[in-house]
Amino acid sequence: MKANLALHGGTPVREKFLPFSRPTIGPEEEQAVLDVLRSGWLTTGPRTKEFERVFAARLGARHAVALSSCTAALHLALLAAEVGPGDEVVTSPITFASTANVILHAGARPVFADVEPDSLNLDPAAFEACITPRTRAVIPVHLAGLPCAMDRIGEIARRHGVTVIEDAAQAVGASHGGRMVGTISPLTCFSFYATKNITTGEGGMLTCASDEQAEKVRLLALHGLSRDAWKRYEPGEFRPWKVLAPGYKCNMGDVQAALGLCQLARLESFQERRDRLVERYRALLAGLSEVRPLAARPPARSANHLFVVVLEIERLRADRNQVATAMQAENVGVGVHFEAVHLHPYYAGELGYPRGIAPRAEHASERVLSLPLCPSMSDADQDDAVAALAKVLAAYRA
Ligand SMILES: *Cc1c(COP(=O)(O)O)cnc(C)c1O
Repeated sequence: MKANLALHGGTPVREKFLPFSRPTIGPEEEQAVLDVLRSGWLTTGPRTKEFERVFAARLGARHAVALSSCTAALHLALLAAEVGPGDEVVTSPITFASTANVILHAGARPVFADVEPDSLNLDPAAFEACITPRTRAVIPVHLAGLPCAMDRIGEIARRHGVTVIEDAAQAVGASHGGRMVGTISPLTCFSFYATKNITTGEGGMLTCASDEQAEKVRLLALHGLSRDAWKRYEPGEFRPWKVLAPGYKCNMGDVQAALGLCQLARLESFQERRDRLVERYRALLAGLSEVRPLAARPPARSANHLFVVVLEIERLRADRNQVATAMQAENVGVGVHFEAVHLHPYYAGELGYPRGIAPRAEHASERVLSLPLCPSMSDADQDDAVAALAKVLAAYRA
């Protein structure tokens, strides 16, 4: 007999709501933040410099610049790559809004190339087909933490003189072809947003191989002020700063950096738990024929930031949003990563991107569902999430 959905008055699978994700913050983080608050130095300072140093060393990156968000990192990466009006930047439509928004901020035009059907990562052949004489950069997005096919994307980009800027918001700690994400392409952008694998509340990091581009990003991140302007309130020789460019304001502060240092030290243990939960999901969902998890690509190491499944809605009497609503009523939080950017009202309406330019991404837009995943989840929490999905699918099976 089919269990009555909580949505229709039945008993929910869980009594207490299981959030889709929650940060893992402990006494180390609390103490580190308290120390900064008591130090008298709250903005960019010694903790930020240390976070940059430790992050770069851990990845093996030449430079790491701490910023206020991954969005800021992507924006400044485009400017460092000299992307501007008249240029085109290819990216994946299956991404967060900011990946495309920053291309517009830089004055360039986003070009959406289709994704691979099994990973929903940028398809190298589709990327190459989108290249024109105006293409200046490409932003591959490592969806759910799985690195894109960077060998092929890098090779195509080199052949066409296109700069690669990786959106690694979801991929801290991931690796591809034996190389850490953050050391593969000229510019890579990470996020420490509250839900990401390591968090500073809000924050981001840009890694970069070129001294010149790192310097430009530092300059643009702090109003375009001359070098080391963050030291301008320290004792010593008084040297008024100079404005060298009309920069932005997206530096990271020491409160965030103190959090980041603690989280980075815990990354490996977080990762082991994420890897284990994903392995368990794959086994537990094997019997549910209406769901297909995104592909894994061993030996590439995914950061396993999300657990995304593609729903076969043709076999259900409900669409993805109804399934998501029913899941939440069962007290299991879910997410959607992502609906294709070019289908959103601003991009489709104002900018006129038509349906049909990326059919596989458009197909996935209506079918992707992310199940709860974070290191603090117990096996029992995960069993509840799977039970809720099985219950909802059984109720909607056509
Ligand atoms: C979270 C995320 C971003 C934005 O990161 P912020 O640090 O919030 O600016 C960009 N791209 C992707 C793919 C993301 O998941």
